[in-house]
Amino acid sequence: MIITELKPIQDIVDSLKNYSKIFLLGCGECATTCKTGGEPELLKMKQDLEAAGKVVSGMCIPSAPCVAAKLKTELAKNMEALRESDAVLVLACGLGAQSFKDNDRFDLTVLPACNSMFGAVMDSRGNFYEKCSMCGECVLDVTGGICPVTLCPKGLLNGPCGGMDKGKCEVDKDKDCAWVLIYKELEKKKKLELLKEIRRPKDFKKSGKPHKLMMK
Ligand code: SF4
Ligand code: SF4
Repeated sequence: MIITELKPIQDIVDSLKNYSKIFLLGCGECATTCKTGGEPELLKMKQDLEAAGKVVSGMCIPSAPCVAAKLKTELAKNMEALRESDAVLVLACGLGAQSFKDNDRFDLTVLPACNSMFGAVMDSRGNFYEKCSMCGECVLDVTGGICPVTLCPKGLLNGPCGGMDKGKCEVDKDKDCAWVLIYKELEKKKKLELLKEIRRPKDFKKSGKPHKLMMK
């Protein structure tokens, strides 16, 4: 899931200074889970914007605004409110905001209420952990399922740097060195021989942006 945080309300109000009628767009997936773009957050945003002298012309929460079909279904129910709006404030990630821009029939100004932070897994207590940097060339098969590209600040592929100290990372002493975790995991699985193979540098062309994947 994409992790988002709400921008400070004053920054949001400042970004809306040239617009008076604002439509709010949330997200029923990631941003709802992050508590940045679900119903309570949209209602609070409405309250804050009205206190700042804005008119909230309408709001909707598509189940996944980054998916055109789901976004368009909700937008179709809100055509009148959208037609009257000066701008759309998106309480979702940058994908949701740009998906709206791609599918907006009124060419409205699109403004982000959130900062998109990282892709993460969520544990059973609701904490988020970045685990994958989407490098386009996965090495989890040889690292015991632990990602060195993401967990090692240097993204090293062939074992720890010289700064590792008592299992901790030299960049952040509170964190375990990714390569110590990988070693322990491979040792547990009796797969230490995987470490004898030298990994070639990653082909970072595969993580060049912008990506696209055509399905037809
Ligand atoms: S190696 Fe790490 S960053 Fe690359 S795809 Fe696999 S999990 Fe993601
Ligand atoms: S100590 Fe380990 S995790 Fe930290 S930068 Fe060096 S190799 Fe990477």
